Amino acid sequence: MNWEQLLQRVYDDVAPSLGEGKVADYIPALACADPHAFALSVATLDGAHYGVGLTRTSFSIQSISKVFALKMALSLEGVELWQRVGREPSGTPFNSIVQLEREGGVPRNPFINAGALIVTDALVTRCGQVDAVSRLIALLHQLSGSSRVACDPEVAASERTWGDRNRSLAYFMRSFGVLKNAPEIVLDAYFRQCSITMTTHELAQAGLFLANDGVDPLHGGRVAAHSEVNRINALMLTCGHYDMSGDFAWRVGLPGKSGVGGGILAIVPGLASVAVWSPALNAAGNSLVGTLALERLSERGGLNLF
Ligand code: GLN
Repeated sequence: MNWEQLLQRVYDDVAPSLGEGKVADYIPALACADPHAFALSVATLDGAHYGVGLTRTSFSIQSISKVFALKMALSLEGVELWQRVGREPSGTPFNSIVQLEREGGVPRNPFINAGALIVTDALVTRCGQVDAVSRLIALLHQLSGSSRVACDPEVAASERTWGDRNRSLAYFMRSFGVLKNAPEIVLDAYFRQCSITMTTHELAQAGLFLANDGVDPLHGGRVAAHSEVNRINALMLTCGHYDMSGDFAWRVGLPGKSGVGGGILAIVPGLASVAVWSPALNAAGNSLVGTLALERLSERGGLNLF
């Protein structure tokens, strides 16, 4: 595959659409992102990297952190985790609360905010409040091969100030006994986790173990069990884009996870990991041009799994 040429073609396809959509404005720290910014990176299992656009510019990975937090929680907690969080698409927006009351405070899946709070709750129980996030960062350093991956204190503070919806979800789940730790402790870790910044170059590299059956190609060691990788990819495919997960699977045909910072991580099992960033979002809070770029990449490169 001529990746350089493929990425350039994809960029040419999507360039006219840059600026369409709306940058996340639920916190001031994200509202200033440039809606025309774009980066697309591919890391392949043979160790090569390809990219187009601002692939060395760090952005807020937001909910993409939920993939790596889930990987950690599955390693630390195993199947016990599934007693407190489901594995079904929610069909609701990422921050919705409506299903929680009907379903006993158990969130539908680990990629909506409620489910991610339960995953972070598990990490806080196993690692402690401070180490939950520092161990997540350490994992990202290892997987990405970059020590520049870090929390952005300004974004974390903004999340904390404007985090009443997440606060509501945490207290509501605590009232059912599903959230185990004090909500403010879990929320603090969750807000810091959401504020992690990475480049698409680093993110593509960090996701590569999901394309490689759990083995980190950078160091050659296994970081996740075969069954964990299968399950994380299955959840990314079915739940990674909230109430547009079906649309993403239909258009792109790959496991993917989006964040409101405009990033998307997509996995091509056995071949590559792809990270795209473009901050302007569609109605479901997923990168509009990022989704389009992955659709074109999948079509032009014949990468659709189906
Ligand atoms: N920080 C965001 C929130 O909790 C993350 C959501 C997302 O990226 N979709 O609201």
